[in-house]
Amino acid sequence: MDGPGFGIYVHWPFCLAKCPYCDFNSHVRERVEHARWRAALLRELDHYADRTAGRTVTSVFFGGGTPSLMEPATVAAVIDRIAARWPLDPALEITLEANPTSVEAGRLAGFRTAGVNRVSMGVQSLRDADLKFLGRAHDREAALAAVGIAARTFDRYSFDLIYTRPGQTVADWRAELAEALEHAGEHLSLYQLTIEDGTRFATEFRRGAWHLPDDDASADLYEATQEVMAAAGRPNYEISNYARPGAECRHNLTYWRYGDYVGVGPGAHGRLTLGGAKHATYALKAPEVWLEAVERGGHGRKEETVLDPEQRGEELLMMGLRLAEGVTHERFRAESGRDMAEAVDMAAVARLAEAGFVEWDGQGLRATPAGRQRLNGVLALLVG
Ligand code: SF4
Repeated sequence: MDGPGFGIYVHWPFCLAKCPYCDFNSHVRERVEHARWRAALLRELDHYADRTAGRTVTSVFFGGGTPSLMEPATVAAVIDRIAARWPLDPALEITLEANPTSVEAGRLAGFRTAGVNRVSMGVQSLRDADLKFLGRAHDREAALAAVGIAARTFDRYSFDLIYTRPGQTVADWRAELAEALEHAGEHLSLYQLTIEDGTRFATEFRRGAWHLPDDDASADLYEATQEVMAAAGRPNYEISNYARPGAECRHNLTYWRYGDYVGVGPGAHGRLTLGGAKHATYALKAPEVWLEAVERGGHGRKEETVLDPEQRGEELLMMGLRLAEGVTHERFRAESGRDMAEAVDMAAVARLAEAGFVEWDGQGLRATPAGRQRLNGVLALLVG
């Protein structure tokens, strides 16, 4: 993929149950009117196709919620509509997020027939006690069975694990990762557990029901993760993502390289360069409100703003410093119209470089693994 690419994100907002740590736009409903949802997704796609005609699509990502609960016919209809409305890159990546319950694993072949060529599975842990703690509907055995089906069905698959769990030791995490690697393809996403406001975990955490590993223990777990994954030939390419070089998730690279993407579905956001101006789009979050808005007016957008060059530079840094490759001077200038040395606090760059958190050279600015682990703090110093 040359340049940052052009992606299409499709949000399916429904889940079978709400996980206690999750603050995504996901909702539990007894019944979903699939035909109505399919029609609305297609209609909103048409709206954005009219606005971005001629752009070559490099990736499509079905996220959620739980898009493996979509009917394969809906996934097929979305992919067909994208193919009908935009030119497609020959190496088009189409990812679908799936949960490893047996019902959803049984649908993977249907998704492949629909055109999906990459699956990302929410395994989260290979320890049954931790899966229970995380409120997941599957156990280790079901997870490994589903990963096996994904491996047999798709050339490209990934799965997620969550670490820095209460009581987790470096030794146990290393053992769990080693086991994960026996089943992994070329890509793994390894997230540190964070406590998000408004979740059940936030309430439990505040009342002291359990504790997370402290900062030092978290840093040790992060470092062990870097080491194990690098030794396994899948180095860290983004804060939480590890892949063999060339096997990175192209869709997510588009976000992190600050490329354009269309966001379709409730709560989806987008970044679109239209007539040289970068537009940020935000969709209505509540599923039924979004659905009715699309049926009434062809899109479910709540807000659209034009980003000024300064905001574009800041967003590029926020996204690009998540990546090991960082942000080049050339890219920064193209996005913001200014030299990076004028836009960031160079005294802070010097201090951060001295402390081993960033690297600055003729190419650009990069956060080191230690800097990526504390990226919010690093960014606050760089751009205030
Ligand atoms: S399945 Fe995923 S999106 Fe749904 S509640 Fe759980 S973590 Fe959130």
